[in-house]
Amino acid sequence: INYSQDKGWHDARIVARGPLSLDPATAVLHYAQEIFEGMKAYRLADGSIGLFRPQENAARFNLSADRMAMPQIDENLFIEAIEQLVKIDMDWFPNVDGGSLYLRPFMFASEVFLGVRPAKEYMFIVIASPVGAYFKKGADAVTIWASENYSRAAKGGTGAAKCGGNYAASLIAQAEAAKNGCDQVVFFDAAEHEWVEELGGMNLFFIFDDGSILTPPLSGTILPGITRKSILQLAKDQGLRVREERYSRQQWEDDSNSGKLLECFACGTAAVVSAVGKVKSSRGEFTIGNGSTGQMTVKLRQLLVDIQRGNSDDSYGWVKKIT
Ligand code: PMP
Repeated sequence: INYSQDKGWHDARIVARGPLSLDPATAVLHYAQEIFEGMKAYRLADGSIGLFRPQENAARFNLSADRMAMPQIDENLFIEAIEQLVKIDMDWFPNVDGGSLYLRPFMFASEVFLGVRPAKEYMFIVIASPVGAYFKKGADAVTIWASENYSRAAKGGTGAAKCGGNYAASLIAQAEAAKNGCDQVVFFDAAEHEWVEELGGMNLFFIFDDGSILTPPLSGTILPGITRKSILQLAKDQGLRVREERYSRQQWEDDSNSGKLLECFACGTAAVVSAVGKVKSSRGEFTIGNGSTGQMTVKLRQLLVDIQRGNSDDSYGWVKKIT
């Protein structure tokens, strides 16, 4: 779908996937005025196909658009574009255990212009790709790398927006994590480099021996994850005391060593819920619990997956069936 200031959103079309032709002076190639979403369609137990909380993705997309000085897109149009694409792709929709259809809506500045100002023309595109399990190890606990050198976002920056530039800036830390044998990188705040923020593509949760569950607050520097929001609800339903509070890396290490911290997991659309067993950094490493996936992590993951795949009651109305 194209956008221009005089016509608004126009020219919606579905075409076979292929290369885009862009002028070398297209604004996005120079100033990275680009935002995206990541969401999944699942084959439900009754054979139909469902999207998980697509209104949340549409709303977050518009928040990202605001921050990046881009135009809003009507939430119904956003969802309809996705639904139409999924319908066309239904024939090869993955029906295997753990499989789903990953959807990537994105918008970029398509104006041919080299000046530094918000563009006047944009393109909105959705692509789809079938996916299996996210981590090679499947449901095993992962080891994460605590980045000493890099932060992902600073106050007043774009941390809460899902824009390409955030990911570009975090690639070097992700590469450092991989070089050190870790699956993901965990970022700390930019000012003190002490407060836990999030992973490269997931939000973090901590479960303690006093029956509480903690996740860092949405202070503007982390992405407001839709899985995070869902887990907060499911954890409350399980009788856990939910805390959206700051948590320091020192406390994390101390609580792991003293046994107060029972479980830690990361969550996001791609990996759903994945246990964190160990944290490594250039200073050393520490293990959470016995280093494997904890019981509550398994429980919360199962509750969420059952809703996403239509195996349990969708009492919150999170699944939107595609008809
Ligand atoms: N943080 C970051 C940086 C992410 O890229 C993602 C993935 N979108 C998340 C958290 C998790 O968000 P969600 O649950 O909406 O996928």
